Amino acid sequence: MSDATIYFVGAGPGDPGLITVKGKRLLEQADCVIYDGLANSALLSDCKGDAETISVAKRSGHHSVKQPEINALIVEKAKQHQHIVRLKGGDPCLFGRAVEEIKTCIEAGLAFEIVPGITAGAAAAEYAGIFLTDRDHTSAVCFATGREAEGKPHTDLNWNALASFNGSLVFYMGMGNLETICQTLAAQGKPIDTPAAVIQQATGPRQRMVKGTLADIARLCEAENIAAPAIVIIGASAAGIEGGDWFTAHPLFGKRIVITRDAKGNRLFAEKLSAVGAEPIVFDGIEILDNSQNEATQAALENLSAYDWVLFTSANGVTHTFEALAEMKKDARVFATAKIACIGRQTADKLQTYGITADFVPSAFTSVALAKELAELERLKHKKILLLRSTIAPKDLPDALSDCGGDVTDAAVYRVRAKEQSGDIVDEIIAQIKDGQVDAVTFTSGSTVEAFWHVVPIELLRESKIDIISIGPATTALLEAAGLKPNCTASVHTVDGMIEEMTEMWT
Ligand code: SAH
Repeated sequence: MSDATIYFVGAGPGDPGLITVKGKRLLEQADCVIYDGLANSALLSDCKGDAETISVAKRSGHHSVKQPEINALIVEKAKQHQHIVRLKGGDPCLFGRAVEEIKTCIEAGLAFEIVPGITAGAAAAEYAGIFLTDRDHTSAVCFATGREAEGKPHTDLNWNALASFNGSLVFYMGMGNLETICQTLAAQGKPIDTPAAVIQQATGPRQRMVKGTLADIARLCEAENIAAPAIVIIGASAAGIEGGDWFTAHPLFGKRIVITRDAKGNRLFAEKLSAVGAEPIVFDGIEILDNSQNEATQAALENLSAYDWVLFTSANGVTHTFEALAEMKKDARVFATAKIACIGRQTADKLQTYGITADFVPSAFTSVALAKELAELERLKHKKILLLRSTIAPKDLPDALSDCGGDVTDAAVYRVRAKEQSGDIVDEIIAQIKDGQVDAVTFTSGSTVEAFWHVVPIELLRESKIDIISIGPATTALLEAAGLKPNCTASVHTVDGMIEEMTEMWT
């Protein structure tokens, strides 16, 4: 018999941040994930590299995988894997057919666990500033389906009771039947001026809401092209409260922004963009690889006590240095005698995670200003200075330090290269640019610019109204050389700085 466990995990309604801590941990450990269309596939980036991920989503033009096939798939995968996550949108057991899959597990003698999730009805209301209960007026909530199981001979819904229910009525899967739902409730005596709200694609950057009453909500939704997935709320609470619609009020709400860094950097950038309501369009343009296994870098790392100053210019430099040191069976103690300077707070923060506080974080970002600041701090004449950077780092920093009298060693601990792209992702981005679906393209380094041009024709951006956002002067110079003038160059050269500029530019 199989000793696998099937975890039925609620993915939450869309915003990937709305999965539970337990659900996220189980995803990280999973050998196999079987996921629905409503579960945000961004959550799969938490999975192990070798995890098998299987979509049972409805694809355009195709029917969704039929329930008996999903049941059979679970049993089959339990023979091959130990730890299986069945990832379902919202809460796994609310209108999710989990019970059919769980019965299959019981019959097959498979161990299972259920991890509840945030259901779309609650999340849609809360992301739209609608309070499903309220001490003064609304003491009950009813979650109902707007579409009963196809082929079911009778209805389980007591429309008369629903019409007289004085709490918040929340309909799932109601868009196909909205008109009928409203008419039936009205026919059973629900006042036609009862407030109603429909929230589409709740908790994501494409969230939209239409408000009205039982009398006109179906017409208003049709006029606004509101479609599934959407939640219908009927009752006094659906009116919401003045100023309560907080999510769509985010400064970058709905903006579609292409991000072009390496996978890890993009993930961080995407999280930050989502937090301000934007929709990141992910293009993993570059890869960052180890470059410590060469004679010059090894010699520098072997002999760190020989240096007066060590300079890190990026968080990547810090990470790759410490990974290389770990390979050499060395640790942070090798930095006991050298002083350390970090360019940028983020670099210093990364260094701190290895237990070392930077001695100096210059306020300037440009190489010359930085060398000057360091020279003001300490006479650099004959001082031995080690730079731990990338193979393509510009020479102006070592030159400026040498000009101040320093004896500079420039060692590369990592290298950056354009990532091999799958045609699908590139085609999708090109199509979105052509369709006017993109608001901005962001570049965080010269290498992201080059990687992007490598696959996306430059004229496409030149001819479009898409904003180009650059992280700093060096990246801007490269863009300008290619005939593209960025709409803004961040004055603080971090992704946070770029988000701040975009916020200012668009609000
Ligand atoms: N188990 C899910 C519901 C599955 S039924 C949960 O607990 O949320 C599918 C229905 O959920 C959709 O037809 C829609 O009514 C609702 N839904 C799911 N995600 C949604 C979203 N992001 N915004 C609005 N409605 C959503």
